[in-house]
Formats: sequence, C-alpha cells, structure tokens
Amino acid sequence: MARFGPAGIPTITKPRDVVKGIEDVRSLGLDLMELEFVYGVWIKNDESGLKKAIDIKNKAKELDVFLTAHAPYYINLASEDKKKVQASIQRLVESARAAHWVGAKYVVFHPGYYGKLSRDEAYRIVRDNLARAVEIVRDRGYNVYLSPETTGKISQVGDLEEILRLCEEIDGLWPTVDFAHIHARERGKYSGENAKEIFIKDLELIEKIVGSDVAKRLHIHFSGIEYGDKGERKHLILRHSDISFEALAEALVELGLTEVTVVSESPILEQDALVMKRIFEEVLHRKGLG
Ligand SMILES: [Zn+2]
Repeated sequence: MARFGPAGIPTITKPRDVVKGIEDVRSLGLDLMELEFVYGVWIKNDESGLKKAIDIKNKAKELDVFLTAHAPYYINLASEDKKKVQASIQRLVESARAAHWVGAKYVVFHPGYYGKLSRDEAYRIVRDNLARAVEIVRDRGYNVYLSPETTGKISQVGDLEEILRLCEEIDGLWPTVDFAHIHARERGKYSGENAKEIFIKDLELIEKIVGSDVAKRLHIHFSGIEYGDKGERKHLILRHSDISFEALAEALVELGLTEVTVVSESPILEQDALVMKRIFEEVLHRKGLG
C-alpha cells in the first residue's frame, strides 16, 4: 500500500523532537516521515548520535512509520572545485551513515548545478562523482539507496531524463521524483485538462528506464509550487496551486503503481500529506481497488 507523510517533523509536533514527530505521524494516520538533514546531518557520528538514532529507529519500527532522509542542500557534484566535490561526497556519505543508523531507506539529494558547463558535461561529472559516493556507501555497508531527486530550478542538474539516466547507469540508486519540481522547471507541465495523460507518459518512461519493481515503489515528492522563468520559486499549499494530485493518483492507480512512498513538501506538511492520502484512497475506491 502507498505510504504518505511529511518532509520533516509535523508542524504540530511539540516539542520539536523527532521521536515525538514519529508518534504524531502515526496518530495523524500517516505512515512515513522524511528526516531533514538539509542544513546538516544532525545525527552525529558519535555515541550520542548513535543513541539518538537507535531511539528513532525503534520508534519508527514500533509504529510502522517508514523513514527516508534528505541530504544537505549544499551538495554540488558538478563543481569544478575538487574540494567542493569532495565535501559533497562526504555529505552524502554522512547522510547515508545517519540514514543507515535510523533505518531510513532512501537518501534524497539534489545532484548539483550546471554552472558554466554544458548539460552533457555536467551530467557526466555528476555521474562519475556519484558513482564514487555509491562505492563508498557500499564499502561501508550502509544499507540505503542514494536517491537523486528531480530538481525545480533550470540551473540545477536533475530533469526527469537525467535522474532516470543516473539510476540506469549506476547500480545502487533509487529515483526520487518530485513532480512539483518537474512542473516548475517545465513551467506548468502538469497543468491543464490532460494532466493525467502527461503523468502517465512520464510514469511509463520511469517504468521503462528503471523497471517496474522500482516504479511500483517510486519515491515521490509532491506539493503545490510557484514558479517563474527560472523554475521553482517556492512550495505552496496544494489547493493554492495549478498542479493536481488527483491526476497523479489516477495515473499511478491506472498503471498499478500503488506501493509508492509520497512525501508532502507543502508548507502545511502533514495536512497536505493527509489530503493526498485521502485522494489516493478515493481514487483506489473509485477504480474498485480499495
Ligand atoms: Zn529535495
């Protein structure tokens, strides 16, 4: 069954504690949470970090809340500065270590920036550096997938084709498809009446390239989004935007991709996660599947 949850601790959680956040996710009727390491990996590589990680892992297991993680924003695998690439790989490995400790399956990250490079050059550099990161993660025995995400700005490496190609060319990756980001970087791709057909087309492409086992359990980010010429401006509440989760839910259900994990990145995190869960269940019901 598909899982839904917030990007980070629910907005209602007090005190702002991750274990309490997992409890709130469960009592809201959700079953997934993405741990946000976006401003740094706060599960430190020491004894206190390990203790915290074990508390998180046990709580998530007890309440059957699926965990994923989001690596720091400060990652640029396409940088021409070797030190920055090294630091980026280090941040990925650190995120993977923390994710492994808490039992989170995917480590979501934004691959980097084109800068002055051509799209092809940037892609190749990202791919080669990412392959090194995957190798380190594997050597250390971290049981996670690095998960490159489709990005929202046209300056960022990570349109759908690039993300899928990375996953095709490097073993040990799992795609994160942020449809709001695709929508923003392609300036309203999924707005309009044939949104469902466009979602179906993209989902079929995903299936074709990464296989149906991965597509069935695709990791999805979703929210409303505001965008301009350069792509993403900011994430929005679902009902304030021109992208329809219902159209995506119909596309997923029609293709039988019903074990996906969906993270809400809306400003009202858990509330929109619940909205999406309800929509998904309604669509299943309508199609006689739930
Ligand atoms: Zn992201």
